[in-house]
Amino acid sequence: MGMSLGVSAQDTSGRLFIPPFDFPLTLSGNFGELRANHFHGGLDFKTQGTVGKPIRNIADGYVSRVTVTPGGYGQAVYMVHDNGYTSVHGHLLRFDPAIAQVVEEYQYANETFDVDLEFEPDRFRFVQGEVFAWSGNEGYSFGPHLHMEIRKTDTGEYIDPLQFYKDKIKDTTPPRATHIMLYPQRGKGVVNGSSMKQSFSLPHPGKTLYAWGEIAAGIKAYDYMDGTHNNYGVRSVKLFVDSIEVFCSTVDGFLPDENRMINAWTDYEEYVTKTSWYMRSQVLPGNSWRMLQANEKGGVVTIDEERDYHFHYELEDLYGNARNYSFVVKGKPQIIEPFHPEGKNFLRWNQQNVVWDLGLELTIPEGMLYEDVELNYVLRRDSDAISYEYQLHHVPVPLHAGCMLKIGVQEYPVTDMSKYYVVQKKKGRKTSMGGYFENGFMHASVRELGTYTVGVDTIPPKVVPLGREQWKKGNVQFRITDAETGIKDYKVHIDGQFVLFAFSSKNARLKMKHPERLKKGVAHEMEVVVTDHCGNEFRERYKF
Ligand SMILES: [Zn+2]
Repeated sequence: MGMSLGVSAQDTSGRLFIPPFDFPLTLSGNFGELRANHFHGGLDFKTQGTVGKPIRNIADGYVSRVTVTPGGYGQAVYMVHDNGYTSVHGHLLRFDPAIAQVVEEYQYANETFDVDLEFEPDRFRFVQGEVFAWSGNEGYSFGPHLHMEIRKTDTGEYIDPLQFYKDKIKDTTPPRATHIMLYPQRGKGVVNGSSMKQSFSLPHPGKTLYAWGEIAAGIKAYDYMDGTHNNYGVRSVKLFVDSIEVFCSTVDGFLPDENRMINAWTDYEEYVTKTSWYMRSQVLPGNSWRMLQANEKGGVVTIDEERDYHFHYELEDLYGNARNYSFVVKGKPQIIEPFHPEGKNFLRWNQQNVVWDLGLELTIPEGMLYEDVELNYVLRRDSDAISYEYQLHHVPVPLHAGCMLKIGVQEYPVTDMSKYYVVQKKKGRKTSMGGYFENGFMHASVRELGTYTVGVDTIPPKVVPLGREQWKKGNVQFRITDAETGIKDYKVHIDGQFVLFAFSSKNARLKMKHPERLKKGVAHEMEVVVTDHCGNEFRERYKF
């Protein structure tokens, strides 16, 4: 079992790709690590604690795309290789000078820091081994490293780059699990007298596990490598019950559309409420990720005899380092709480669902839910509020893609409708979902069945000048934040000319990109304009 989406053994031995660095490779992140709403799509190479390491082209090819963003990859290069793969390199400090010049010309011509440029094959060609960029810590990165992905150029499929560098990195350390979770199937199963899921520690559950009816299992585990203190994603999980394989996951590839299926495979509720990752040994009906394989019941085990059921997990990494865990579930007849889904608030995974109520409409097209959901729906009315508050479900349920939510506006504290936005309330925090007003309703795309209402943002971004005594040297910095809808745009002019400032969303810093270019020894006048997503503008002039 377990199909491999990588390349064949002959290919990997034929130096299809050389390493991006000439120093020994170590990883701070591996392929398929569990992250919020996505798998980690590549490897994170450590860069000896510093930025500015030259990155060698891993195989002949051309730069097809360059991006610059305040978050995400920061500065990234997409390299299309002649061998059918495309590599993506993120968090870069610097591009090759010829590329950097084109990027900068675009930034000044369009008066923007953000860049997304595509290039023809003959524009920027690099042979294997040639340096095309320098590693950094830009974007959403919290320590110097190179994020490198390898995708199939035709399908965009992400594959595990480690298969090409196995002989360059030593790993004799197997994965390790800490907990299992047992999931009684609603209306069909029970564990230790309860229809609720329950977690137990590993290697020893610490109590006897009794079950009856249909249950599924899940496991919390990480992989480890020699000589690092990082934890990594587990490549392969197999579950056997009485020596029969009931489930197998192999995290070695996923298509872009399969990336969010992580929310169906992991226990989304555990992640959202406790930031704890369980890999379920169950294929939910709406989960079509090809790397999961299970018995005909999707990994569900039927306990219908009064005997011991031997559960056995096998966890394995790419190097074949494996660790096994065994535990017993005792079959014992117990009352199974019946489940009778009723009417309007029961959503079926294999059809379109529309949730509606006074001032609420949410259309969920087929293919957006991974399993049936009985909404724990609550309408909260507050007569002074801009809109009612709608709890679609008490813990967020993931949707595969954005679905249109409409909320009726009850009160209009301001007349400018561009100031209104849809708010998601989560763990006591408010997040802007953006949106627009039309025919009495706020419209916004949502990716969870959570709790929503409407807010008004009339407060401009906050801009704090930093280290003003340094400004004359060109070291001009601000901290820019926006409490409600977030920073949308920023622009700085010095002495009437647009000047490029880099924005880093991870620390809210706005910094002059080329301090050396500021004319020294003369007085300057600077204008800073920062806007949020509701069009509230901060505008200020500074002399220095
Ligand atoms: Zn990464």
